[in-house]
Amino acid sequence: MAARGRNAADVLVLFDVDDTLTAPRKPVTPEMLEFMRQLRQHVALGVVGGSDLAKITEQLGKSGLEPIQSIFTDYDYVFSENGLVAHKNGELIGTQALNNDRPVVLHSLQSLKSFLGDDKLKEIINFTLHYIADLDIPIKTGTFIELRNGMINVSPIGRNCSQEERDEFEKYDKVHNIRPKMVSVLRERFTHLNLTFSIGGQISFDVFPQGWDKTYCLRYLEEFQEIHFFGDKTYKLPALMTRYNNAEISSWLSDLHLIVPLICTYTSTPESTVNYYSLLACNKK
Ligand SMILES: [Mg+2]
Repeated sequence: MAARGRNAADVLVLFDVDDTLTAPRKPVTPEMLEFMRQLRQHVALGVVGGSDLAKITEQLGKSGLEPIQSIFTDYDYVFSENGLVAHKNGELIGTQALNNDRPVVLHSLQSLKSFLGDDKLKEIINFTLHYIADLDIPIKTGTFIELRNGMINVSPIGRNCSQEERDEFEKYDKVHNIRPKMVSVLRERFTHLNLTFSIGGQISFDVFPQGWDKTYCLRYLEEFQEIHFFGDKTYKLPALMTRYNNAEISSWLSDLHLIVPLICTYTSTPESTVNYYSLLACNKK
């Protein structure tokens, strides 16, 4: 990418976590850690995940075969909860600020709560718990609702399930559409709140205000001339297209959903992430 006449320091490569750097909810492999280490010699690196910082650190900060590494030393930028909590070189540079386009450091981790207000939040939680209570599925565990800084995570089976139960639920859901049906009911019930419902991973879906998706982190990255985003749900980022719709569109990788200066590449597994990156690196020569 630097071969296109730009200083490598102007290029940021930004990665999603699940299905991009790791298998869903699994730790990063030593091979991927090594790939990242080499990549960082050429470009700035960032990671953006929907989970909170503790979960992202758990997945990316260590591997069974490698000594524990801090993600803050491996990545220039770490965006947890899609960037509602943002770190640069290990320093907190922002959390979601209400009614403010620019990121401001707030030392409160209750922003969704502040954004919606206690009454609306309670309404959503009550309705969701009632829905889950009436839901007849083979297994239920615990933690059906997890309130995070910028989103509500809802799991019909409950987040306390084992890996085996998780796998079983995913299969069951594919047949019975438990999550899609639930989302359509919630979407209709709460139309007035302008919420986005996003089904992801194996057992849950996220509920958050419109715009609080992975595009949120872009506001921290204006210093870069070029940003490459690798993720398994790039098709879900229409806001990216809007923001850069006047930019030139490069032809050399048009089949990979390429937009300059923001270049989105669809991946589906950690292996495809490495392969696509290698392809990009090859094409620039
Ligand atoms: Mg993903």
